[in-house]
Amino acid sequence: LSERLQNAMAKMRRKGKVSETDVKEMMREVRLALLEADVNFKVVKDFVKTVSDRAVGAEVLESLSPSQQIIKIVSEELTELMGGEQSTIQMAPKAPTVVMMVGLQGAGKTTTAGKLANHLRKTQNKRPMMIAADIYRPAAIQQLETLGEQLDIPVFSMGDQVSPVEIAKQGIQKAKDEHRDFVIIDTAGRLQIDETLMAELSDIKSVANPTEIFLVVDAMTGQEAANVAASFNEQLNITGVILTKLDGDTRGGAALSIRSVTGKPIKFVGQGEKLDALEPFYPDRMANRILGMGDMLSLIEKAQEDFDEKKTEEMAKKIKENSFDFNDFIEQMDQVSNMGPLEDILKMIPGMSNAPGLENLQLDPKDMARMKAIVLSMTPKERENPDLLSQSRRRRIARGSGRPIAEVNRMIKQFNESKKMMSKMSKGNFDGMDGMFGQ
Ligand code: GDP
Ligand code: MG
Repeated sequence: LSERLQNAMAKMRRKGKVSETDVKEMMREVRLALLEADVNFKVVKDFVKTVSDRAVGAEVLESLSPSQQIIKIVSEELTELMGGEQSTIQMAPKAPTVVMMVGLQGAGKTTTAGKLANHLRKTQNKRPMMIAADIYRPAAIQQLETLGEQLDIPVFSMGDQVSPVEIAKQGIQKAKDEHRDFVIIDTAGRLQIDETLMAELSDIKSVANPTEIFLVVDAMTGQEAANVAASFNEQLNITGVILTKLDGDTRGGAALSIRSVTGKPIKFVGQGEKLDALEPFYPDRMANRILGMGDMLSLIEKAQEDFDEKKTEEMAKKIKENSFDFNDFIEQMDQVSNMGPLEDILKMIPGMSNAPGLENLQLDPKDMARMKAIVLSMTPKERENPDLLSQSRRRRIARGSGRPIAEVNRMIKQFNESKKMMSKMSKGNFDGMDGMFGQ
């Protein structure tokens, strides 16, 4: 999805005034982009109509920056399409809150059960328990037990000779006895939706009385994910969707179709196989990500989980106020290297997802070490105030760090450019972003 839309956006951005024909042309691109992204046909049609209606309105064509207005409209409507507001997990008025995970085989139910338990414990201090109610898939019980061990979260199981309904019932009782406040039931899936499966899930639902029934769907299946969601919803009246494998999905078709096809919100997204790779779903951030504006807020939030909250706030404030200096830079670099695979993080930086290739970005660990050496050769004053870095100072830094002067210059230039960019981005100004990483 992104590439075509991003190109259309970039073209738009370069225009001063736009005519109705420009809008039409742009909408054609948007429609193609959405269809290519495997978004449901009807959803596309409605979307394009809504955006066109708004875009040819007087507020846009007569405004000072019509192209930006249109980009804003597309972004707003994409957000709306995905539910508008963030939708959080509901809690039962009386503990324990019971959550049922349902979905097709391989969608990621079991893994996501573990991720969700981990997430709730980490962010809300919950004491979760998981119930192994998939008695069909070979080793499904063991898979959940292994996850439980890794996370140190208890798993209730009764082998595969007892009915899933009975397992759910006894598991919930056990959770009550142990004063667990959160119960996640992992259920069986099939390769296709079938009646036996639905009947069993319905039975579990009636004994478990869940507050949330999360349908787990694989984002890589595109609009098929929305079809699956529609039938599960019809049969079970699900309360929300968790979209997994978003790390492998470059099209965004599932995310864009699900809400309008089912009327149910996406509540979380899975971003990888690791047990901390689950994030709340934010429609506005996803819309911006699809438009290639990156996802500064998610980036900051991911960082937040991994280090001191206060520091992150400070950092975000500094970025906003444009007072980000080399000390922050070094700190951030250290943090980035603790934050897991660099690619995951880089993809969230504005402009990166569209970058010609990560290797051009000169951010491999070796380069980071070199940059760090350069910064460490600056005096504390210079680090706080990069404007002090005159040519003679730069030469001294080059000698001190053992790096060529050209590299020192390039590093400072890059630093200044990203700083400017970050400050703009954080104020919601996306203009001029094309130049960011020098495409
Ligand atoms: P289930 O049959 O629905 O219980 O699915 P599983 O939980 O067993 O997951 C199937 C496969 O998908 C496993 O290999 C998981 O590691 C993988 N998986 C689940 N969620 C994600 C995700 O968000 N990203 C990636 N890359 N893989 C995932
Ligand atoms: Mg499973």
